[in-house]
Amino acid sequence: MTPLVDSHCHLNFEPLNAGLEDVLQRARDNGVGYMLCVSVTLETFPEIRTLAHRHPHVFASVGVHPNEREGHEPTVDELVELAGDDRVVAIGETGLDYYRSQGDMAWQQERFRRHIRAARQSGKPLIIHTREAAADTLRIMREEDAAGIGGVMHCFTESAEVARQALDLGFYISFSGIVTFRNAEALREVAKQVPPDRLLVETDAPYLAPVPYRGKTNEPAFVRHVAECLAEVRRISPDEIADLTTRNFFKLFRAPRDTIEC
Ligand SMILES: [Zn+2]
Ligand SMILES: [Zn+2]
Repeated sequence: MTPLVDSHCHLNFEPLNAGLEDVLQRARDNGVGYMLCVSVTLETFPEIRTLAHRHPHVFASVGVHPNEREGHEPTVDELVELAGDDRVVAIGETGLDYYRSQGDMAWQQERFRRHIRAARQSGKPLIIHTREAAADTLRIMREEDAAGIGGVMHCFTESAEVARQALDLGFYISFSGIVTFRNAEALREVAKQVPPDRLLVETDAPYLAPVPYRGKTNEPAFVRHVAECLAEVRRISPDEIADLTTRNFFKLFRAPRDTIEC
């Protein structure tokens, strides 16, 4: 059985961090071979970098989440320098979120543009977060020529039309536990249509636990339920989903892959 990859999680967040060895063991027990631990502030990035250096199956990203207001505002040069670390495989998470932040969004858009420029300079793909801001997200991706860099639309919850435009820009689409929710029929319809060579799975743990753990603390082991849901929707086996999403992950992020798996 091909190992699964959780393409987006926050292992440094509590309560995952406090029980990390158990969390990683349960991931292995559930066939999750690799995880990408995603950065949300520069202040906490060193924790993620340490995690990724300590655990050969954990990769890191560097970036500042669109909703983070308090911390250090990163320059392009700072992001590029931190992305030079060999365990850092992506820039993000970045993007736009008009749900949790309101008012003049110029600061968020400017930060997003800097991340795209840093991704171009560092040659590492983007992890894009978008919520209630799809039109501006796609516009800025076009204006900054993100198609020349590539990346993933993480925790995808948008329409088929938004997916199509992101796919046209060469981006991958990653589904989280939301796709397993009872009321997510429209999203499952989108998940059915994403080309097999552009599909990824993630947990976004500790948030958004999939059914049957909805409402509980999420963890990478549960990405199995996301994969099983996609397998059902696309009428292929869970092993085929693991096979193609893991292949896609290593193609997109060019992450070093161990010879020993799981
Ligand atoms: Zn996000
Ligand atoms: Zn996240």
